[in-house]
Amino acid sequence: MDMQTSLLDRLFETGLLIDTGIEGLYGRSGSFEEVITRFEALIDEVGGADGAEAIRFPPGMNRAYFEGSGYMKSFPQLAGTVHSFCGNELDHMHLLQCMEAGDDWTKGQEATDIVLTPAACYPLYPTVAKRGALPTEGGLFDLQSYCFRHEPSNDPARMQLFRMREYVRMGTPEQVMAFRNDWMERGKALMARVELPVEIDVANDPFFGRAGRMMKNNQRDQNLKFELLIPITSTAKPTACMSFNYHQDHFGKSWDISTADGEVAHTACVGFGLERIALALFQHHGLDVGEWPARVRATLGY
Ligand code: ATP
Ligand code: ZN
Repeated sequence: MDMQTSLLDRLFETGLLIDTGIEGLYGRSGSFEEVITRFEALIDEVGGADGAEAIRFPPGMNRAYFEGSGYMKSFPQLAGTVHSFCGNELDHMHLLQCMEAGDDWTKGQEATDIVLTPAACYPLYPTVAKRGALPTEGGLFDLQSYCFRHEPSNDPARMQLFRMREYVRMGTPEQVMAFRNDWMERGKALMARVELPVEIDVANDPFFGRAGRMMKNNQRDQNLKFELLIPITSTAKPTACMSFNYHQDHFGKSWDISTADGEVAHTACVGFGLERIALALFQHHGLDVGEWPARVRATLGY
């Protein structure tokens, strides 16, 4: 049995994760959630004094915002749209007959104005753009959202619905680069406090198709994305538990976000994969939180 299925099976057996019959869609136990809550408190401890504006969006976003983000150009394979039944009574009868016959009843569903959020920061850019130019000190935001990505897998660290905690910085290139560099150091220090082994490496997003290959190379060549990796289901291929993304002026241009000086704003975001961090803690310190090393428990306030 490979390491992925074996960890997933153990998580199901202990009830930390709950099987729903769909790969990457799991229930979480109280104990699993508590680890995430406590780790988020640790994030607050590190980042709280920076004065970020906290915003919580629901896990669905305005479809027009999603369209404007260019997500479908780069990652069509991962997106999830929300569809609903919009018919009359006759259509309803047909729908039920179709279900009864075991045929595909979803064909008649129509797109709504909501798309599942692919990354916690996507709803933020158009929201901030509406406010007008950024103040001189730029913008700093604290986000957390469930995110959807259509990437079913038996690797428990690759879920279809998972939470991302993010800090997002907007401003001059110097402001956002300083933010990103700070968080790479903070990320390493934070993981050391919970005794997780990390490495940081340059990375790329899973851009789609042949054109995507060029985007991947470009992103790597320019050091636009770094990941903090921790072994979870494989020591040879550790898992990205945090990412540090410099978008240059991509979102600033797309949404017309400007700095106080009237320049196109640059943006960067730092994302914590909350489930992945919880899984890393369980994998390294054991599935029973009561047995975790005393120092790790103390850091998390147990
Ligand atoms: P990967 O390379 O593993 O697919 P990614 O580069 O696409 O991840 P980001 O888009 O940078 O990930 O997302 C921010 C963070 O969200 C990642 O660092 C990771 O911790 C977490 N994350 C991404 N995809 C998943 C997933 N399918 N399940 C759980 N966590 C995820
Ligand atoms: Zn982001």
